[in-house]
Amino acid sequence: MHVTFSEADLAFQEEVRTFFRDEYPDEIREAVSSGEELPREMQIRWQKILFEKGWAGINWPTEHGGTGWTPVQKYIYAREEGNANAPVIVPFGLNMVGPVIYTFGSEAQKNRFLPDILASNTWWCQGYSEPGAGSDLASLKTKGDLVGDHWVVNGTKTWTTLGQFADWIFCLVRTTSDVARRQEGISFLLIDMKSPGVTVKPIILLDGTHEVNEIHFDNVEVPVENLVGEEGKGWTYGKVLLQHERTNSANTFRSEYRLRKLREQAATSVRGAPPLADDKNFMRRLAAVEVELKGLEYTELRTLAAVSSGKAPGPESSFLKIKGTEIQQAIDTLYMDAAGYYALPYRADPSVGEGTETLTALRYFNFRKATIYAGSNEIQKNIIAKHVLGL
Ligand SMILES: Cc1cc2nc3c(=O)[nH]c(=O)nc-3n(C[C@H](O)[C@H](O)[C@H](O)COP(=O)(O)OP(=O)(O)OC[C@H]3O[C@@H](n4cnc5c(N)ncnc54)[C@H](O)[C@@H]3O)c2cc1C
Repeated sequence: MHVTFSEADLAFQEEVRTFFRDEYPDEIREAVSSGEELPREMQIRWQKILFEKGWAGINWPTEHGGTGWTPVQKYIYAREEGNANAPVIVPFGLNMVGPVIYTFGSEAQKNRFLPDILASNTWWCQGYSEPGAGSDLASLKTKGDLVGDHWVVNGTKTWTTLGQFADWIFCLVRTTSDVARRQEGISFLLIDMKSPGVTVKPIILLDGTHEVNEIHFDNVEVPVENLVGEEGKGWTYGKVLLQHERTNSANTFRSEYRLRKLREQAATSVRGAPPLADDKNFMRRLAAVEVELKGLEYTELRTLAAVSSGKAPGPESSFLKIKGTEIQQAIDTLYMDAAGYYALPYRADPSVGEGTETLTALRYFNFRKATIYAGSNEIQKNIIAKHVLGL
């Protein structure tokens, strides 16, 4: 396997590096570094900067305003983005529903929705999970009945990330009950959050943050033209979307950035104490995570080599998701150990602890979610057992 880039790719790398150095606003850079959740306005501002540059639709084809980049260019971009510690793009529009619409949607849907998604003029959220349907998503109960030229939707979606900001929600909805397999009869609907009958109920997490919601649909009328693709084929479209979501969950280069920062911190003496780098046990554990991450990076490169030669990505997205999120959590544990008891009183008393240490515990607990969302890691292991190992 060759891991050197061509002259053209090296020139591209330089262009991306210069962009992040010169056009990533200090105000947003500092907000990301602080470890606090990025306010909605900053998210949108950053995505609009990418749009102006023509880099919002990384995975989108050029005919819809995307970059049309090769897999190697996407890889280079992801690496520079991670190294710059740039904001994580809100994925629901750009990385999830956008690709579903340009792949399976009608011309009218493409014209209506894609430009606003690309320019971050609309905020989308994802309506898959329900109170009784998470891992076993095919058991979802939200129902759509065709009445005249509308689907009348009733049911509840849950864990809807950032749904409180959303203009639109894309939903998997059961539109036919009389089916041979439960995966049939599910449709992919685009629902305006301002429709009468839509209620957003916040779910406040243990740390007091409002990140997820329950969304209730009470006789919500959805025009038939908001059905994506064919009625009853939503499961197929939803699966395509989840593969994108899982591959993006690996976050290799953000992990690389965090490990590098941790090494820098470990080399410094804090409050007169010997630097953490003197602690052989800590440094051995840090090195072990670095080795794991290097392994993940090479697995990503192997996937990239396969995709570059025309192969479609397959169940390796499950592998990348498991390993990537396990490594993220191992890094959070190292940060907790490094901060010691200064990490404990997060949000409780800002006078205790220094700098961003008090946010360490906040991140540690918040990112327990990484092994659950996008399909839990246990479910990814089932996929690997079935589709890779043939068990
Ligand atoms: C912070 C956060 C944000 C989220 N955002 C969204 C969102 O925006 N939109 C959305 O639609 N959903 C979202 N989700 C939901 C997420 O996709 C589900 O939580 C996930 O699919 C697991 O479903 P569940 O919570 O119902 O757990 P369950 O399915 O009840 O699983 C409980 C436990 O049992 C294990 N388990 C279940 N079945 C099996 C099996 N067959 N084999 C082995 N182990 C099994 C699971 O791994 C898990 O550990 C979010 C979740 C979280 C935590």
